[in-house]
Amino acid sequence: MIDLTCQELVELLTDYLDGALDAETKQGVADHCAICGGCGPYLEQLRQTIAVLGRLR
Ligand SMILES: [Zn+2]
Repeated sequence: MIDLTCQELVELLTDYLDGALDAETKQGVADHCAICGGCGPYLEQLRQTIAVLGRLR
């Protein structure tokens, strides 16, 4: 089980949404977003932005 800080999470988010992370790291991101009041909404916002733009890069 990976314990991420908010700083680490933010750096991983684009790869997470791109599906570029390994399963363990991906789970760590999901777990953090589920319990963190800052990163959860941030992830949702980023998801919606990507849905509008299509892709990140
Ligand atoms: Zn956080």
